[in-house]
Amino acid sequence: MAQPHPHVFLGDRLVPAAQATLGIASSAVLYGLSVYTVFPVLVADGARSAFRLTDHFQRLAESCKIIGIDRFAAEWDFARFHATVVELLAANEPAEDVFVRVSVHVVESIPGTRVRGCAIQVSMFVYDAVPIVPQDGMRLKSSPWRRIPDNAIPSRAKVNGAYVNSVLAKQDAIDSGYDDCIFLDGNGHVCELSAANIFLVRGGTLITPDVSCDILDGINRRTVLTLAREEGIPVQERTVDLTELYIADEVFVTGTSAGAAPVFEVDGRVIGTGELGPITASLRKGHAAALRGETPHGWVTPLAQ
Ligand code: PMP
Repeated sequence: MAQPHPHVFLGDRLVPAAQATLGIASSAVLYGLSVYTVFPVLVADGARSAFRLTDHFQRLAESCKIIGIDRFAAEWDFARFHATVVELLAANEPAEDVFVRVSVHVVESIPGTRVRGCAIQVSMFVYDAVPIVPQDGMRLKSSPWRRIPDNAIPSRAKVNGAYVNSVLAKQDAIDSGYDDCIFLDGNGHVCELSAANIFLVRGGTLITPDVSCDILDGINRRTVLTLAREEGIPVQERTVDLTELYIADEVFVTGTSAGAAPVFEVDGRVIGTGELGPITASLRKGHAAALRGETPHGWVTPLAQ
């Protein structure tokens, strides 16, 4: 990841990035007991706007609820969240688009493996919006590492510690010469990438694993599904076999840090024509327009002071 921009938020104020530290005995450090979200801030003509900010806040609150981090709901509401994001962006004044990473850390020291009632600190920082996967046709490898199931560490909650699962699978893919991994569940069904959701197109139908397939309920996934339905593209959210990807006409992925980016190869098989397909191209264009607030969905929040 790129370096945080100079001003970051921790606890209750902005501080220089080098001073934003968590204790080595905090549950966040010892157990990975933090949850997070990442959203894009678009910069155009000096004006800044955040994409689907209310949805990111809601998903963060839901991650806390799933894990039992109850101090978040007690201490934070959307108004405070929004005001803090505005303050953070005003302090850093990014000239280009950035990503904002917000984490809720359980900071109590060595409380044992429990969570309810434990003290929290929220951190926020800004970094350059550099995609984590190639945008011009990536190559994916199905992973020997299985996705953590909902009844172990739920993918629905963005738990920092659970990202060790993503690290294992992504590193294996990179070591094997691929750009990213495809996680399968214990039954061999397709889940998602290390940090992106996956879609395939077959016979003009858009297909993606449904939200109970051990995936993150990605906000860009929701965006693309909405755009597809509006374009009249038939959509199926259902269980997906790995071999369906091999014979798909098009495959693409979505995520804040992945964009809406095409996949040209899975496990050594060329997908479709091995070039950008028409449905991917259209949804990619629609996604880019949505990010810039050019669609009538009310997805963009101005970050004016
Ligand atoms: N799946 C995982 C595991 C992720 O980490 C991400 C990135 N946050 C996504 C999917 C995509 O989610 P979103 O569209 O909300 O960025």
